[in-house]
Amino acid sequence: MQTQYFTSTRGGENLSITFKDAILNPSASYGGLYTLEKLPKFSNEEIKAFAKLNYEELTHTIFDALGLNIPKELLCKALSLYQNFDDKSTPAPMYPMTPYLSVQKLYCGPTRAFKDMALQPFGLLFSAFLQNNKNAQNYLVLVATSGDTGPATLQSFANQPNIKVVCIYPKGGTSDVQRLQMTTINANNIAVFGINGDFDDAQTLLKNLLKDSHFNATLKSKNIALSAANSVNFGRIAFQIIYHIYASLQVYKSEKVHTIVPSGNFGNALGAFYAKLMGFPIERIWIASNANNILTEFINTGVYDISNKSLKKTYSPAMDILKSSNIERMLFALFNSHRTRELMESLEQSGRYALNKEELMWVQSYFGATNCDDNFCLETIKKYAKQGFIIDPHTACGIKAYATIQTKHPNAKCVLCSTAEWTKFAPTLAKALDLGDLSDKEALQTLAQNYKIQIPKQINALFNQKEIHNKVINKEELMDNILQWL
Ligand SMILES: *Cc1c(COP(=O)(O)O)cnc(C)c1O
Repeated sequence: MQTQYFTSTRGGENLSITFKDAILNPSASYGGLYTLEKLPKFSNEEIKAFAKLNYEELTHTIFDALGLNIPKELLCKALSLYQNFDDKSTPAPMYPMTPYLSVQKLYCGPTRAFKDMALQPFGLLFSAFLQNNKNAQNYLVLVATSGDTGPATLQSFANQPNIKVVCIYPKGGTSDVQRLQMTTINANNIAVFGINGDFDDAQTLLKNLLKDSHFNATLKSKNIALSAANSVNFGRIAFQIIYHIYASLQVYKSEKVHTIVPSGNFGNALGAFYAKLMGFPIERIWIASNANNILTEFINTGVYDISNKSLKKTYSPAMDILKSSNIERMLFALFNSHRTRELMESLEQSGRYALNKEELMWVQSYFGATNCDDNFCLETIKKYAKQGFIIDPHTACGIKAYATIQTKHPNAKCVLCSTAEWTKFAPTLAKALDLGDLSDKEALQTLAQNYKIQIPKQINALFNQKEIHNKVINKEELMDNILQWL
């Protein structure tokens, strides 16, 4: 397939941006995001044939059809990292819970959250593209994390040549397991800082740093380019299309499947949306969120309004979000760059935008949405544990969507994306299961014993390792600390 070019969601010049360009320098014109100009649409015959492919073959076929133009050997090498996941035959196995509900385990990689699905192969691609760059540069990747992106990014980039990673997390804002996954990594191309503040503070800090002229000038003088591996990077989105295709093909019999995605920044859901646009048998994509119900409100009313909202802390912290960046790519795909720019500028200026009636109906023909509070989340964890299914708090929020689908379509087949393993949120599970306020270590052990479940060895090992990157700093100290470390 011919190479496809990327375009900014907000329009602008056509610069013949390739997949590689979009990965290395992910900011597009007018503050937009790079997106494929068009998607292929497959016939029913083609889709039937895809069902016979294994996960790796499927990835090659779809990436080829998307025109990403990744050298075959390189993609093979990137996908070989899935061999370290739990199940060698597929990185994203399906588990039927009921005849109507299949859970797709997206957390079988090294850091036990779905971020590994993309970040494992992505890290290898990113560093290979760098090596081939004619004016080979050193890159600095900055990450702010609330707990899952940080470990997955560090795990993927540790010891990769020409790349340094700085990761900041809110001190006290992650679980012990999540913190240890960052602070115990033994690699000298990474720096991890706990920040006195919350996740919003950490994110704002990074944004300001990216704009800081002294910081940028210093990096330039050292021949270091800045990049971001955050969830708007198309390199991550690309890998997140494949498992949705895989799931739909596994579950599809005669009626299309409903795909439920616990959502925050909308990167995971966007992959499912692209799969549906390409013709795969997905009836509707269900966005599940928590008390921060911005996405539910948007999909149900067409109004995206953060002007009067503040972030609430919940038991499903990876979905605690107000500004869900990848929505912009959905708007671009359904409408056009002109309209997307208009809506996004309205959001930036007034904290709000509204779709018209026709646009809303169009969005709703692809998406449904539900949200739930912490109570529902804990009750659901308990209810499913009684039936022998141990699910994490984010996955539990997805059950609300399943219940909603069932009231409307009792025989619908659903796929629930399970985005994290319970081991990352053991104290919350302990609370849900009436075991009291336990530390991560106590909760892991008690749950493993009571419910006869395994703790993966990489989680157990965390508690015996030295916290190498244990520096905690104030916000205003970050820039100096980074420049010193470089
Ligand atoms: C990142 C994350 C999400 C949200 O995914 P988005 O792609 O940002 O919507 C949901 N659940 C868990 C456990 C996560 O780590």
